[in-house]
Amino acid sequence: MNTDYVTRRQVLKRFGALGGSSLVIGAMDAWDLMGPESPSRPILSGMQPATRVIVLGGGLSGLTVGYELGKLGYNYQVLEARNWVGGLCWSVRRGSQHTEIGGETQVCDFDEGQYFNAGAWRIPNRDQAVLGYCKELGVPLELFVNWSDANYSYEENTEIGPLSGQRVRLREAKADLWGSTTELLAKAADQGQIDVSLTAEDQELLMEFLVRAGYLDNEDYAYRPPTSRGSEERYDLSALLKSGFGSRVRSLYAGTGGPDPVFQPIGGMMQIPLAFQRVIGERIKLRAEVQSVHQTEDAVEVTYRDTGSGEEYRETADYCVCCLPMSILKEIDVNLSSDMAAAVDQTRHSSSAKMGLQMKRRFWEEDDGIFGGHLWSRSLQLGEFSYPSNDYFSEKGVLLGYYGGGNQAGLSEKSLQGRLDHVLTQASKVHPQIRDELESAYSVWWEKVPYSLGAYGSTPRLALREQLSKPDGRIYLGSAGTGTRPAWLEGAIQAAWRTVETLHERVMRG
Ligand SMILES: Cc1cc2nc3c(=O)[nH]c(=O)nc-3n(C[C@H](O)[C@H](O)[C@H](O)COP(=O)(O)OP(=O)(O)OC[C@H]3O[C@@H](n4cnc5c(N)ncnc54)[C@H](O)[C@@H]3O)c2cc1C
Repeated sequence: MNTDYVTRRQVLKRFGALGGSSLVIGAMDAWDLMGPESPSRPILSGMQPATRVIVLGGGLSGLTVGYELGKLGYNYQVLEARNWVGGLCWSVRRGSQHTEIGGETQVCDFDEGQYFNAGAWRIPNRDQAVLGYCKELGVPLELFVNWSDANYSYEENTEIGPLSGQRVRLREAKADLWGSTTELLAKAADQGQIDVSLTAEDQELLMEFLVRAGYLDNEDYAYRPPTSRGSEERYDLSALLKSGFGSRVRSLYAGTGGPDPVFQPIGGMMQIPLAFQRVIGERIKLRAEVQSVHQTEDAVEVTYRDTGSGEEYRETADYCVCCLPMSILKEIDVNLSSDMAAAVDQTRHSSSAKMGLQMKRRFWEEDDGIFGGHLWSRSLQLGEFSYPSNDYFSEKGVLLGYYGGGNQAGLSEKSLQGRLDHVLTQASKVHPQIRDELESAYSVWWEKVPYSLGAYGSTPRLALREQLSKPDGRIYLGSAGTGTRPAWLEGAIQAAWRTVETLHERVMRG
């Protein structure tokens, strides 16, 4: 065993021997190890230039594995089937193209500089691993607007009453909900109808808060809509509650992505894998479509096809780290143990799909005063419809016209034109200009995308995760789908870190 090399586990053991469990817990806290997976980068040392590792897949997990192995001096190679890196971290822009499985070919003809993130698009501020690499690799970030009160909500359903079929500004609904409920509370408190014992001072402070928070009149505690609400008329509390606002508007935003601020790389999410590629360089082989992986006691042999020349190649290594999507791994000839093959078979993925719509004019900004954020609707079959959080006040922009399950409303069975018609019909209920302003569209239905065959994985249950995280002979699985957060880049990085740590620990043991 190389004595220069210490893993976190070994350090924890030593802390335990020195100071018992409290010292171990202290150290674990410091490294933030209490969660199911370590959010901190493993501190590894000891160079291994004589050990050859083949990494399969140049998505974020494969790139992270390569990058970290490189720091430890490994002789490694990343094999990526596409002619670009990033996998699900794909920003579609002019020239991007793919042919759907059993379907049509698209070549993106957006204007130069216009793009949309077909996969990963937002980085929550809790995702320190992703943010850490952005800092380390020099990827500039900007704010992603994940909630905006300027945006509309739209529901259509006769049971919800007068607001059915009307687009409602979230700020108006929010102001009126707060106004009406604080008015009720303030009036009840004023008449001593609240069954809590408050000191006179607390009662006074509470009234002050309610008046201020809800824009109430100081004298009679009636709600007086403020001018910043945007229009004089107010919505009736009952109508707001019936239309579902009560279950959506909260004191803090609680949607996907977590609390503000949320970030995005300037120029598209793909800037992150591109930054890794700049550092890793030659060690990534593009257009290398892996066909089979065979391991023996002493080595692993990987066969791949150069998709440019059609030629087949064989490479041998001491270890193989497989960062392919599970949906692909299920299809490839790999001699995994029966337990591991069964575990891989049990993994599931989402059918998510997205559609980007390049618009001639940023009408949502010019006509509606909307700058980023989403359209809120459960009735429209658009999933998440979103406005770009970049290049405000420029001429054109790309709307995210659809982000939802690929199978919603039978969309995956429809032609590209059929899907576009669906999106335009639905979205024009809120934005009647959308058909006239459309210039170009691009659809990414991930289940139909070669080399992905699905969007992000579903979180495997603990027992499955434990199996997937174990080495299988000389093969390690390191994609996001093996960990606790497959739907996040953070999950891809954490799975990669876990893999590098376990592999390095073994190699150093000799
Ligand atoms: C619609 C959508 C929205 C998302 N939103 C967010 C978000 O907002 N924030 C966030 O943090 N995360 C988000 N994610 C999740 C994030 O994109 C993934 O968790 C992460 O990119 C997975 O990385 P990976 O390397 O494990 O897998 P992948 O990105 O799937 O990489 C696998 C790689 O293997 C390659 N490959 C496949 N077959 C072969 C073969 N035969 N030979 C060689 N190479 C092959 C692929 O081309 C690909 O590059 C989203 C994902 C999707 C699909």
